[in-house]
Amino acid sequence: MKSLEIHLASRPVGWPTAETFRQVEVDVPGPGDGQVLVRNLFMSVDPAMRGRMNDAKSYVPPFQVDEALSGGAVGEVVESGSDQLVPGDVVLHWLGWRQYALLEAKSVRKIDTTVAPASAYLGVLGMPGLTAYLGIIDIAQMKPGETVFVSGAAGAVGSLAGQIAKLRGAGRVIGSAGSAEKVKHLTEDLGFDAAFNYKDGPTRPQLKRLAPDGIDVYFDNVGGEQLEASIAALNRFGRVAMCGAISQYNETEPVGPRNLSLIITKRLTLRGFIVLDHNDRQAAFVEEVGGWLREGKVKSEETVVEGLEHAPDAFLGMLRGENVGKMVVKIA
Ligand code: NDP
Repeated sequence: MKSLEIHLASRPVGWPTAETFRQVEVDVPGPGDGQVLVRNLFMSVDPAMRGRMNDAKSYVPPFQVDEALSGGAVGEVVESGSDQLVPGDVVLHWLGWRQYALLEAKSVRKIDTTVAPASAYLGVLGMPGLTAYLGIIDIAQMKPGETVFVSGAAGAVGSLAGQIAKLRGAGRVIGSAGSAEKVKHLTEDLGFDAAFNYKDGPTRPQLKRLAPDGIDVYFDNVGGEQLEASIAALNRFGRVAMCGAISQYNETEPVGPRNLSLIITKRLTLRGFIVLDHNDRQAAFVEEVGGWLREGKVKSEETVVEGLEHAPDAFLGMLRGENVGKMVVKIA
């Protein structure tokens, strides 16, 4: 079977460009015993993929130059060498960035597309949704009545983190995002109590204005200046779910908060987490967030880019903030 794949052409220094990627045609063999051949329907582009383009040790191995990129995808089984899966089954797996994927049947998860569309398993019902759920509930241990600030709030993780905080009884939820349209979307569509455009000026005065009594929880998707301002705005015994630092991923000279001594004086907890460590929370997440989704209490937006050949544009667009909600690529 002929298949197109997107390879890493070279390791970017600073911002990736079109030259970072190369489209390659390959032959994919039919499935052997215990394997399935999957035609990909949707793939995810994630900020963490930027980190994997560097030749650096992290919690997942780096991508290799001249090899296919990988990442979350959903696809339809077209040929099966396994008695567990039949053609037509839709599965979630980790071989995105290609049209066809040859996979061990035991490494994929069958999904139910009568419950939600296939792409939802890359967003609200998938890894970003679980990340938002863990960050608010387990990591920040948000309590009802608390004031919560979420950065990157119009993206996949942030939009859900804010909504989950509200549904779990937050007193006030404030979001930040990078355009006036996104700010409006947060307060008018997603139920945030207040929101601001972080590109309009420094974060500290915005938080003083929107949370005059301080914040209790900060869900950090961006790091840098917004993290420093949040440390300053946090109340005593405040907690930070350290989820991501996208403002730093393309920086050759990253900047960090200069006010870490406030962690001591205000008895703050800043806790990093990686979603992959928390599979034990998957069932609780699906039950609670899946329930809210069915009841229409959670809204999940998607920005869909059509065509595998445009996957690099989708990835670069996501890094630039062109997505509202989860950025996915429709492959077939
Ligand atoms: P998003 O859907 O939020 O897309 C990324 C967004 O980041 C863009 O839309 C853009 O929105 C924003 N952004 C880009 N540059 C900057 C900047 N300089 N300052 C502030 N915001 C910026 O992505 P995800 O929801 O998938 O991921 C959000 C964060 O969560 C990332 O940091 C990611 O690494 C992290 N993450 C962590 C996981 C974990 O296990 N810890 C798992 C999954 C994600 P805007 O227009 O608002 O600028």
